[in-house]
Amino acid sequence: MRHVDVVVAGGGPAGSTCAWALGRAGANVLVLDGARFPRDKVCAGWITPRVLEVLGLTPEEYRASGLVMQDMTGFRTSVLPNRRPVSTRYESIVSYGVRRCEFDRYLLRRAGVEVVEGTAVSTLRRVADRWIINEHVSATLLVGAGGQFCPVARHLNPPSRDGLVIAREIELPIDGDRCSIDGSVPELYFCHDLNGYGWCVRKGNFLNVGFGRRTGHEFQTHVRGFVQWLKVSRTVPERVLDWTHWRGHAYRLRGATPHVAGEGVLLIGDAAGLAWPESGEGIAPAVESGAIAARTIVASGGHFASVDALAYANSIGATAKTGLSVPMPLARTLMRVPPLVRYALDRWFLRVSDHRERARALLWEKQNASM
Ligand SMILES: Cc1cc2nc3c(=O)[nH]c(=O)nc-3n(C[C@H](O)[C@H](O)[C@H](O)COP(=O)(O)OP(=O)(O)OC[C@H]3O[C@@H](n4cnc5c(N)ncnc54)[C@H](O)[C@@H]3O)c2cc1C
Repeated sequence: MRHVDVVVAGGGPAGSTCAWALGRAGANVLVLDGARFPRDKVCAGWITPRVLEVLGLTPEEYRASGLVMQDMTGFRTSVLPNRRPVSTRYESIVSYGVRRCEFDRYLLRRAGVEVVEGTAVSTLRRVADRWIINEHVSATLLVGAGGQFCPVARHLNPPSRDGLVIAREIELPIDGDRCSIDGSVPELYFCHDLNGYGWCVRKGNFLNVGFGRRTGHEFQTHVRGFVQWLKVSRTVPERVLDWTHWRGHAYRLRGATPHVAGEGVLLIGDAAGLAWPESGEGIAPAVESGAIAARTIVASGGHFASVDALAYANSIGATAKTGLSVPMPLARTLMRVPPLVRYALDRWFLRVSDHRERARALLWEKQNASM
């Protein structure tokens, strides 16, 4: 049986980031993914600058490979069925749009470690201080990065529907169709109860339209209402409007996964249920948790069996619940007032205060290091 230091189960953004960072630190890593890349992933592909910061990647470098990375400088938001949207424009680029089929493959190739595609992790056993995976690989450490249906996460946590977002979407080339969606301004259409939203995100010549809700309750009624609203309010290619052809997926929001680490095992990304509750953003938490897991593993100084699972769980803050505490009718009214919409976008979509806090922490570290 072959032995490696670390097996990463899943090569999405979380797994590839962790593998990339571990590979750079000289660990012997093997990534197993059930799919073959490029594989598609149901996702709007909206990313915040934090993603590129963690990956140490510039838009120019990414685009040099001929891949789409759409600059975004604002948002157009409305609360359904209100037809008057609010446009929020920023002075600089605040996010980007990528195609997941391209992005995920790029990151996995860039990881520079051994990847076995088309091989799902199907069996797991703990024998002494090792994991036996699929009966032919053994590893001292196992990183669960298999997304919502990660077998490693299932090993650690009982099945549950807590904190699940239910979503459906379609992505297609625009190909000369009439389309009123501007790539630099993604559009968000919040449900009346603010428990979900629809979106139109254009990335170069591709349009992604979808709808997600924190509860499956009356999902179809809401998505139907959203599509009906799109029909009368926006110009999008006709084939977008048959939502019964949209692809579905679910993923878990932060705070609903009891165990994100255990003996010789860490969960990252969707496997750990880390998406931000207000925006549903999951890519930034995926790459951040992948990088933090790698740092925790490297900090064990090669004693992989003694990786500090508790320290990892604390540093990703997986159990921290955030949430809107504004009463619903007030929140709905506020979403019509431009400065307040900007406040909400800054706080819950762009997470500006997190960045300020990180910058302050970095400055503090630097100042203390030079004392
Ligand atoms: C409709 C929708 C829209 C979204 N839009 C956005 C958005 O615009 N921006 C954003 O930030 N987030 C968005 N998200 C969330 C985002 O897609 C996820 O949070 C993100 O993909 C998590 O990355 P990950 O690497 O943890 O998991 P994934 O991207 O799901 O990758 C998991 C990988 O594991 C592999 N795998 C699965 N099972 C096994 C197995 N048994 N063995 C081996 N490999 C396995 C899969 O093939 C896959 O490659 C959206 C989600 C949905 C459903």
